Amino acid sequence: MQTRLIDGAALARRLREDLKGRVAALAVHRHAPGLTVLIVGDDPASKVYVRNKVRACQEVGIHSTHIELPAATGERELLDHVDRLNRNPAVHGILVQLPLPKHISADKVVNAIAPDKDVDGFHPMNAGLLATGHPRLVPCTPAGVMAMLADEGIDPWAKHAVVVGASNIVGKPVAHLLLQKGATVTICNSKTPDIGAHTHAADIVVVAVGRPRMVTGAMIKPGAVVIDVGINRLPDGKLAGDCDLDSMLGRAAAVTPVPGGVGPMTIAMLLTNTLRAAEFQQP
Ligand code: NAP
Repeated sequence: MQTRLIDGAALARRLREDLKGRVAALAVHRHAPGLTVLIVGDDPASKVYVRNKVRACQEVGIHSTHIELPAATGERELLDHVDRLNRNPAVHGILVQLPLPKHISADKVVNAIAPDKDVDGFHPMNAGLLATGHPRLVPCTPAGVMAMLADEGIDPWAKHAVVVGASNIVGKPVAHLLLQKGATVTICNSKTPDIGAHTHAADIVVVAVGRPRMVTGAMIKPGAVVIDVGINRLPDGKLAGDCDLDSMLGRAAAVTPVPGGVGPMTIAMLLTNTLRAAEFQQP
C-alpha cells in the first residue's frame, strides 16, 4: 500500500493565504484583529513559540503584540495584565504561553481570560461548549487535526477513531470533535493496559502522548489514517513524533510527518481563532 504523507505545512500555507483576505476585509470596516501574547520567564522553547506566533500574525495582517514578564512576576500581577487586556477593545485575542512558573496557577490565569478572547480555547466555558456540542473557540491543535482530515477528504462519520492521550489541550478536545463528526471514539491514557489492542481496531488513530515513536506500524490496522500530534526533542537534537513513521509506511493509508504535519496547523488555527474572536467582538 502506498502511504500518503499529509502535508500540514502546505495546508497551513493555504489557510494563511485565505486568512489574509478575510483579515483585510474585516479591517476595512472595523479594527484589524488584535492578539496579545503574555509570556512569563525565560524558557527558550516558549520564546521561540511566541516569536513564531507573533510573526505568523503579522504575515496575515493580525495586529500582534507580546508582553514579556520576568520569571518572578506574581500571580496577582499577571491576573492584572489579563484584566487590562480583557477590557482593551483593540485586543480580540489573549494567549498566555504555557507552562507558567510553578508559583502561578495556570488554571486561575486561564479562567480569568474573557471567554470570547480565549483564542487557545482552554477556558472552562469554551471547553464546556465543545463538550456539549456547541464549539465556539476550539483548542488550536485539535482544530488543526480536524482541518487536516477534512482537507484529505477523510470523513470520521461511522468510523472507529482511537485517541491515544487524554490531555485537556489535545486528547479530550480532539475526541469530542471526532465524536461530533459521527465517529465512534475510544480514548486511551497511561493506564490503558493494551494500547495496541485499541489502535489495531481503529480506522483513524490520533496520538498525543509525548513519548517518542511509541505507536508503531504493527499497532495499526492496514489502511488506517494516523495523525501524529507528538513533538519530542531527541538527545541528538532532532524532532520525533509519538509515532514511528518508518514502520507506518506501506501500512497506513495516510500519516502526518513530524515535523511538517500537525505543528504548522496549530499556528494556522490560532490565527483563525483570533479572526473569529474579532468577529464575535465587532460583529
Ligand atoms: P500531556 O498533557 O502530557 O498529556 C499526555 C497524555 O498522554 C495523558 O493523557 C497521558 O495519560 C497520556 N499518556 C502518557 N503516556 C502514555 C502511554 N505510555 N500510553 C498511553 N497514554 C499515555 O501532553 P499533551 O500536552 O497532550 O501533548 C502530547 C504531545 O503532543 C507532546 O509530544 C506535545 O509536545 C505534543 N503537542 C504538539 C502540539 C502541536 O502543535 N503539534 C500541540 C500540543 C502538544 P494520563 O492522562 O493517564 O496521564
